[in-house]
Amino acid sequence: MTPDNSASRADVVVIGGGHAGVEAACAAARTGARTILLTHRFATVGAMSCNPAIGGIGKGHLVREIDALGGIMGEAADRGGIQFRLLNRSKGPAVHGPRTQADRKLYRAAVQAAVRAQAGLAIVEGDAFDLVLGADHRVEGVVLADGRRIVCGAVVVTTGTFLRGLIHIGSETIPAGRVDEAPSIGLSQTFERLGLRLGRLKTGTPARLDGATIDWASLERQRPDDEPVPFSYLTDAISNPQIDCGITRTTPETHRIIRDNLHRSALYGGMIEGVGPRYCPSIEDKIVKFGDRDGHQVFLEPEGLDDATVYPNGLSTSLPADVQNAFLRSLPGLAKVRILQPGYAIEYDHVDPRELSRSLEVRAAQGLFLAGQINGTTGYEEAAAQGLLAGLNAARRASGAEPTVIGRADGYLGVMVDDLTRTGVTEPYRMFTSRAEFRLSLRADNADRRLTPMGLEWGLVDARRRAVFGASESRLREARALLESLTVTPAEAARHGLPVNQDGRRRSAWLFLAQPDIGWDRLVAIWPELGAVDAKTRERTAIEAGYDVYLERQRRDEARLRQGEARRIPEGFSFETLKGLSNELRQKLEARRPATLAEAERIDGMTPAALALILVALGRPT
Ligand code: FAD
Repeated sequence: MTPDNSASRADVVVIGGGHAGVEAACAAARTGARTILLTHRFATVGAMSCNPAIGGIGKGHLVREIDALGGIMGEAADRGGIQFRLLNRSKGPAVHGPRTQADRKLYRAAVQAAVRAQAGLAIVEGDAFDLVLGADHRVEGVVLADGRRIVCGAVVVTTGTFLRGLIHIGSETIPAGRVDEAPSIGLSQTFERLGLRLGRLKTGTPARLDGATIDWASLERQRPDDEPVPFSYLTDAISNPQIDCGITRTTPETHRIIRDNLHRSALYGGMIEGVGPRYCPSIEDKIVKFGDRDGHQVFLEPEGLDDATVYPNGLSTSLPADVQNAFLRSLPGLAKVRILQPGYAIEYDHVDPRELSRSLEVRAAQGLFLAGQINGTTGYEEAAAQGLLAGLNAARRASGAEPTVIGRADGYLGVMVDDLTRTGVTEPYRMFTSRAEFRLSLRADNADRRLTPMGLEWGLVDARRRAVFGASESRLREARALLESLTVTPAEAARHGLPVNQDGRRRSAWLFLAQPDIGWDRLVAIWPELGAVDAKTRERTAIEAGYDVYLERQRRDEARLRQGEARRIPEGFSFETLKGLSNELRQKLEARRPATLAEAERIDGMTPAALALILVALGRPT
């Protein structure tokens, strides 16, 4: 597909071809909306601005959820992945974090191929400058910097770090959205005109190194998993060769050089106002906040199979290039290292996500959706997941259907969007498993069971995925039914060496599978008919059986939440005229306009009495 720069009409326009934008555009088009992806350059679609890796703890869950809803990130990561590792392997499956380091070129090519293959999606290259807003700020189109106009029913803005982006390398500042790319000025002004609250955040990236100048032989290695676990439910096996990374550490000399030059760092020289990501601090931050310790670990990650560029993970910085050169050379293995591109910090505007409803639509402008880093998040996965939801809802809005939401009990995507729109951000938001209260059921292994049925209902899932999901569901259901049908008395169990109370109750193979030390092999030895169950189904049923007992209580909590979530508060509902509410709560409710009772419940200061008033005013459920 070559860009179609003459396209001037669509149901949905997505601005920005980053991780959020491509998922938004593909999701909208999958549901049947005529969609335009408007981005600066198609060549940068699928680019990773920072680390060449997808997934991790919490983030890996999001990738599986994106995949379960028909998104493209999981398959692209499987095509680009060159070092798969399942993080947290020693802990329970609920917190396992699939991650892969990616070959940048392969990943980008896979994303671009998916975008090209998507029916109903056209690409326009250009710079979005302004939005066309009709009566009541309803979105009607987009104006490009060169004067072109595109008329549409809904817009998704996914401009990442480009809103008034400012790059810092030491005392040097360059207006830019990413290195070598111009910032977006017009859209920030549009948002201000709409009265949206904007904030200022920052992030940074390390220097890129020439791998040929690294002394690999002297370094410790990090090995990939022996059996790579793919992200996508559609991937059977990973075909790329898997590589090692190098591991090194900062030294007292590194720390001395950084301390001596802190006044030249944009972060510490007072040049940057924005707040940075707590969990991805710069090396200056680590040295100032966490001291010298015995050094900070650095992973040397090759950026591709046939690319000598190396990403030194853990060394993001805004120090001047000469200082970067000096401190890098003080690390073991890097004495002769050559910098290909210096690291930098970037400051940018973001929109306060409390301006959005949980469908990611701007409350003040119907048909305008925001997704990705523009909402104050950090990370490719967080951006992509929001993009998918925003693209789906933009398509629904354009077709006259009501936007939809994903609940906290349904997925990490629901948790993230709820957190963002309810409490806003004071620092770049990153996904963690600890943010989810329903961790036991929101696992990376069961994202398809949780979300693919919803994806099917919303028109996000194609025939191939429908077939794969259907077949897997049948296998899981049949295996469980078989396990539950095979029972033994306590005496028989004891004869087979299975630990059990002699209470006279028969127990099923399913209950034995729930015990951590009884695996499939022992059960197959007792019931040979179980031998026909395939390896993948065995693995999945073992996890489900293991969690089943704990899930009972969680299911009750979930049911309560769902009831609350299900109680919708109509858009025009007047909190202003509701008698008996305190002024404080009336103001908060009017400002936040919760869409459901559950959302109202989570407003700070909310009382059971006030909730009861709203419930009475809503009347009986129909
Ligand atoms: P992006 O991927 O930035 O994509 C934005 C897209 O919008 C681009 O294609 C751009 O060309 C296009 N665009 C912008 N304005 C316009 C316009 N007016 N008209 C048309 N197109 C436009 N994340 C981490 O998890 N860890 C990190 O360590 C980390 N470090 C980072 C360091 C740097 C320097 C940067 C820039 C980002 C870093 N990130 C990091 C964040 C990560 O890259 C982003 O969270 C993620 O890429 C956001 O995706 P997005 O789709 O929101 O935006």
